[in-house]
Amino acid sequence: MSKNKIYEKNPAALQSLLLTGRGFLYNFLRQGGIFRKMLSELESMEHFDAGKIREWQNKKLSLLVRHSYKNVPYYNRIFKKLGIIPADIKGMEDLKKLPFLTKEDVRRNPEDFLARNINRFFVRKNFTSGTSGKPLKLYRDLYSVNFENAIVWRQRKWGGLDFSDRIVVLREEQIVPFGVKKPPFWRYSMPEKRLFLSAYHLSEENVSYYVKAIKDFKPKAIEAEPSLLYILARFIKKQGISSGTFSIKSIFTSSEMLLDTHKQIIEEVFGARIYDFYGNAERAAAIGTCEKGNYHVLPEYGITEFLPLSAEPGKVEIVGTALHNYAMPLLRYRTGDMVELLDSDCACNRKFRTIGKIKGRISDFLICKDGRIAVDACYLTLKGVDNILQSQIIQEDLDTISIKFIPGENFSKKDKDKIMNNVKAYMGPEVEVFLEQDSEIANDKTTKYRPFISKVKL
Ligand SMILES: [Zn+2]
Repeated sequence: MSKNKIYEKNPAALQSLLLTGRGFLYNFLRQGGIFRKMLSELESMEHFDAGKIREWQNKKLSLLVRHSYKNVPYYNRIFKKLGIIPADIKGMEDLKKLPFLTKEDVRRNPEDFLARNINRFFVRKNFTSGTSGKPLKLYRDLYSVNFENAIVWRQRKWGGLDFSDRIVVLREEQIVPFGVKKPPFWRYSMPEKRLFLSAYHLSEENVSYYVKAIKDFKPKAIEAEPSLLYILARFIKKQGISSGTFSIKSIFTSSEMLLDTHKQIIEEVFGARIYDFYGNAERAAAIGTCEKGNYHVLPEYGITEFLPLSAEPGKVEIVGTALHNYAMPLLRYRTGDMVELLDSDCACNRKFRTIGKIKGRISDFLICKDGRIAVDACYLTLKGVDNILQSQIIQEDLDTISIKFIPGENFSKKDKDKIMNNVKAYMGPEVEVFLEQDSEIANDKTTKYRPFISKVKL
């Protein structure tokens, strides 16, 4: 029985206990002694001038390049092919001696990027569907997990949050089984002091339960995917509930693009400022908003280059060389995410590069007949399906979903049934699902490939 199935079959109290167990594990993995040390180092680096930041980055880069050459098969080959040695890359300006790395390069053979001197027991494996809709296998070491958490926590401190504060979480994760029709639509994790709200039970009818749960929990902050929080905020606004209802100090959003319209409504409804965070599954770069509301590239995370896009004047692609993941170093990784640069200093006084807008990834909404709205249709539909190379999901109307897909070698009827069951479990048994097997998914070269398209208006 899968982890998800075991979770689903247990009563609410036991689910909270399971989350609590996971919370202890997460705290242990992400917030050990090394994490506290990193966090205090990061907090002191905020006051560095540009030269000192650069010096720090170059030192880290030299170490990473040496490690990549010595221990990572892909880079050992590339360096030899180019006739260069690690000493030829003394600083970030020498990085251009190396070629860009694409998603496709990594997808083709992820193990080629896995460092040979790393203890596999401590390496975490992750899959992401990525924006291309093709699965990508990624590895991270524990140092990288701790470092990322320190980067995240530094921003939370900008937002006035401390470790002992209570947080409400709203993410696409399945917290409450889909079949549950009555509250509670949330579960509590004691070690993390977090109340996890179900994203899949949000509806106009249920919103008053959510409001009461948040009020009773008295959180200092909300952590959420912005489009989900927007859905909740919209329902709350419609009910005429005032922002004074909640005593929330700050909101932390991440994992997808934050739209201006969403930001405005969320901040108005909860009466708190949003701190947005941009990262990616490949851990190539990190960008976060400060107390003044400006986006900054976080320089300790990695070296970030900006590749001009001729088709999109004024916009650049983020190319990242993260300095902390020795299990799977990716040098000059093209993220496929777009930003607009801003050439001005920020009133927060940090000497971090300022970004105007993040224009990349945006999720679409899957809408059910009874008013429930799911943000990540791909996650819902393809959960537990291993043998698909690429797919495109189209919501034709409230009752119809079409899915085009390229099957993998081991694709079978089991995968087909799994997709059908996934969709019907969430949307209801009456929904019609059309599966269309194909060898290629049409891709308009001028626009980014979209794994999910909705023809239903929200
Ligand atoms: Zn700032």
